[in-house]
Amino acid sequence: MTEQWFIEGEEAMQRFGAEIGAALLWHGVVYLDGNLGAGKTTLCRGLVRGAGHAGAVKSPTFTLVEPYELEGASIFHFDLYRLNDPEELEFLGIRDYFEGHSLCLIEWPEKGKGLLPSPDLKITIAAEGTGRKLSVESYSAHGLAACQRLHN
Ligand code: ADP
Ligand code: MG
Repeated sequence: MTEQWFIEGEEAMQRFGAEIGAALLWHGVVYLDGNLGAGKTTLCRGLVRGAGHAGAVKSPTFTLVEPYELEGASIFHFDLYRLNDPEELEFLGIRDYFEGHSLCLIEWPEKGKGLLPSPDLKITIAAEGTGRKLSVESYSAHGLAACQRLHN
């Protein structure tokens, strides 16, 4: 299932991020596709705040991953832009992140090809006028259920 959305403005983008987290029941794997400046981190910020995180949500460009252990969710936000070799993920202990009931948000997933689990949802973001066109695609039963919840 693929659903398209048009979202205008940073605030609406963050609200949509929170809706995606809720639709996923705060667990699963989400790939975020889109150029630099598309709005991937903005969406993740809204999602993490929607899960109850009150502090800053910085882009994990240099740390590769930022964990958020919250009351109702355990979220890992990845930005693999600076990853040179997927093998480097082994040193991060990548497997541990995908075990248990976590929600993994992954910017630049193609950089980790071969070492990442397949996604439940893939969200593709493209600039369009003053807003963004989002395409939300499900890749699993869990992702499909989330897509349907998001739609309703
Ligand atoms: P990325 O992580 O994809 O590189 P960012 O999330 O850092 O991109 O966002 C880049 C810029 O796009 C920010 O200035 C943000 O305010 C803006 N932006 C994000 N989403 C939207 C949107 N839906 N409409 C308009 N501007 C947006
Ligand atoms: Mg980013």
